Amino acid sequence: MFVLANARVVTPRRVLDPGWLTVAGARIVAVGAGDPSNVDAVVHDLGGRHVLPGFVDLHMHGGGGAQITTDDPDEIGTAIAFHRRHGTTSTLASLVTDELDRMAAAVRTIAGLVHEDPGLVGVHLEGPFLNPAKRGSHHREHLLAPSRTALRHLLDAGAGTIRVVTLAPELPGGMDLVHELVGAGVIAAVGHTEATFDEARAAFAAGARLATHLFNAMRQFHHRDPGPAGAALADDAVTCELINDGFHVHPAGIRIALAAAGPERIAFITDATPAAGMTDGEFRLGPVPVLARDGRVTLADGTIAGSTLTMDATVRHAVRCVGIPIVDAAIAAATTPATVLGIADRTGSIRPGKDADLVILSDRLRVDAVLARGAVVHGTLP
Ligand SMILES: [Zn+2]
Repeated sequence: MFVLANARVVTPRRVLDPGWLTVAGARIVAVGAGDPSNVDAVVHDLGGRHVLPGFVDLHMHGGGGAQITTDDPDEIGTAIAFHRRHGTTSTLASLVTDELDRMAAAVRTIAGLVHEDPGLVGVHLEGPFLNPAKRGSHHREHLLAPSRTALRHLLDAGAGTIRVVTLAPELPGGMDLVHELVGAGVIAAVGHTEATFDEARAAFAAGARLATHLFNAMRQFHHRDPGPAGAALADDAVTCELINDGFHVHPAGIRIALAAAGPERIAFITDATPAAGMTDGEFRLGPVPVLARDGRVTLADGTIAGSTLTMDATVRHAVRCVGIPIVDAAIAAATTPATVLGIADRTGSIRPGKDADLVILSDRLRVDAVLARGAVVHGTLP
């Protein structure tokens, strides 16, 4: 048992400043404001550092030079470990569109890792049922028309570990797949889509409850034709992913989305590529070659191809550049995505009884230490 004291503890309601929390084994057992009393345990004085809930990333394709769309478990593990050092204690592994059997092989590999690593929650399939007109960096030749058979092939490969599937519901057969996914307990996410407002609304009414990287790779918001972004923001049952790197969405767009939906319906994601954490250069994103320069990742023709974000960077950007209260940033980076995944009973917030998944940030909101289920997995405690 140990106590983190003299900290700025970011709870879902407010920042306890100063505040403290007690960890016993894998769990948070007590949280309070002021100084801890009757302490019969090791006390770590955090000197005013922030303590946030461990981040939960719904959308991560790679990092540290490693990628997720592969059947090499070591490479997948390298990407997950890279993001863990940046505070992500729970993540989905997101595949980009590839040839169907290669996707199935990657899904099988990730499914094996899910049983070994409690921080790997499951698989997010981004494709192959995307609208070619909004495919972004996804490989055109590997996109498929919605097919129950192809979906079943992937779900079977995942053996229950596929948690999210991004698809374009307006494609012929797209709504059938939404129903199929909802029936199977898998989250249907609307993305890479030309859906009209009504088409998107129909998908959400049928049970789709996530919008993949809101505003990016979807029909644009227009006040007379609000499209999927308008349908998602206007629907209280839908959570909107946002790539908050100052580039994918203008800071005013971030503020507008947060004002419309509240942080309880906004999930900050990285959409990170293998280029995250690396110097500029050439990388692969699944079957597609990409270029990283000045923090941006593109195809040769300039099309945006994911990010170099990490979850700590999105929180830093939210607070310091967009002007979002740190409580709201922590909700969007941890609590909301944990709720989406159905794991909010054990992680995603700093409360007694939750797993001690914690990120300790410096004054400048840089990661000093990361704890996963009570164990220090990066950095050191003072
Ligand atoms: Zn993506």
